[in-house]
Amino acid sequence: MALLPLLRRLGSLKLTPHFSQRSISYVERIRFLQQLKEQDSACLSHLSEGQFLVYSSGKPLVRIDKANTKDALVWLSYSEIIKYYPQIPSGTVLLDVSEEGKPRYSVQVGALSTATQEQLEHETQAMFTDLRLALFMVSWQEAHTLSRANCVLMWNKNHAFCGKCGAPTERNAAGYSRVCGSCGLTQYPSSAPVGIVLVTDPALTHVVLVRQPRHPPGMYSCIAGFSDAGESLEETVKREVAEEVGVEVASVRYVASQHWPFPGSLMAGCFAIADIQELNLDINELQDARWFSRDEVSAALDRISGNPYLRLRGNPSGELFVPPPGAIAYHLISHWVKRTPIHEIYHHIY
Ligand SMILES: [Zn+2]
Repeated sequence: MALLPLLRRLGSLKLTPHFSQRSISYVERIRFLQQLKEQDSACLSHLSEGQFLVYSSGKPLVRIDKANTKDALVWLSYSEIIKYYPQIPSGTVLLDVSEEGKPRYSVQVGALSTATQEQLEHETQAMFTDLRLALFMVSWQEAHTLSRANCVLMWNKNHAFCGKCGAPTERNAAGYSRVCGSCGLTQYPSSAPVGIVLVTDPALTHVVLVRQPRHPPGMYSCIAGFSDAGESLEETVKREVAEEVGVEVASVRYVASQHWPFPGSLMAGCFAIADIQELNLDINELQDARWFSRDEVSAALDRISGNPYLRLRGNPSGELFVPPPGAIAYHLISHWVKRTPIHEIYHHIY
């Protein structure tokens, strides 16, 4: 059934308890989220108490003047969003359940008129902002929310037709599954696994950082690459390091992961150890790769922490900097510099 007729039929029917006035436990939140994902009636009936993250033409509405704070994302109430986008729930996908127990959705409103966009931005004191810029300017947790929203919205856009028989597919209310109307195939959003690794020498005095042609001037980062079919994470990391810098690594250790929307990746952060040896670059993939000392990397961290805009504009002086705190690479590099024990890093990041 299409979403609008189903919503009308449901009216104000509520199928689940209301938690909006109090905090709920993590397990309660997850069970509620599961119900919203799987039951169209529950998902739609809770829309009116939801909070809405707005995307216009791929750009999220954020308060960039509150960079690196926990409240840069703008959440509209149902009565607010419907003023600007009466087509709701069209273009709406479920995101999560807030700590207060409110369902949170993301809405792709398309291209707004200039007047409407200016009014919305004025009323919220926010701006529709390039997603890549927003990801680097918000907190680690909010970057994940932006990434999930973009991923689920784009997945629905790109899976309007069945990958098996080519017939049109129909989404569920949450936007977390699509069923083919012809062959019945059900598809779900997924992430592509990526191994990202900070390679150290055995004495832990130096690391390998690489520079891709698309990096802004001065930026170096960790080696990263997509997992091939049939590979373990450890095999992916070993292969990528061998391909990109011609070195064999051992002792691959997983640290922490991050979702990233370009193009919907699960970035699995690792450390690995290599014997110091001459690097042999794949010049088709990399512009440069070098061993850097702890002092050099520490100075690079200070530069990006002091000015996250380096990630977008580059460093005119050409001095080394690394990705900002919104990226898993930053955390791998900074905890190596701080000598944080691997088993403790997770607690520092999350
Ligand atoms: Zn089909």
